[in-house]
Amino acid sequence: MILFLILSILDFRFGIFGFICMGAPMYHALRGRGKIHCSKYCPRGSLLGLFLKKISLNNALPRFMLTKKFKNGLLIFMLSVFSFAMYHTDGVPIRIAFAMFRFMSTSLIVGILMGVTFKPRSWCAVCPMGHGTVLIDQQMNKRPKVVFNTK
Ligand code: SF4
Repeated sequence: MILFLILSILDFRFGIFGFICMGAPMYHALRGRGKIHCSKYCPRGSLLGLFLKKISLNNALPRFMLTKKFKNGLLIFMLSVFSFAMYHTDGVPIRIAFAMFRFMSTSLIVGILMGVTFKPRSWCAVCPMGHGTVLIDQQMNKRPKVVFNTK
């Protein structure tokens, strides 16, 4: 994540790598691996957990932020902002990369502010990507399982 930020500040074109960060949780969830991205790979989650431990005020998140309504609302809001930003790039690669960088860095700043005010990884409790992963995972688990008879 730090490398992504530095490279993107030096050259906005690196912002395009943000798609990996956004797509990876969905990819794993669609492969039936649940929230493995959040627990093992997410650079944002580990950055928040690692660097905010010492400065976090460790307050509990307000209850309303833990409700499904709030998480769904934030997911819809973020998807709308993202779609709006992408629409205004007119398909120009450098603009897409910059929009991605802006989106990633804004959500990281919000995550840091939340992590300092509340517990370090509070962002993860409301993160649209994490919540989207849970929704995909729930749908995947509803699918009938195919059992092969090996006899
Ligand atoms: S909830 Fe979001 S920020 Fe947290 S680990 Fe998962 S994808 Fe990363």
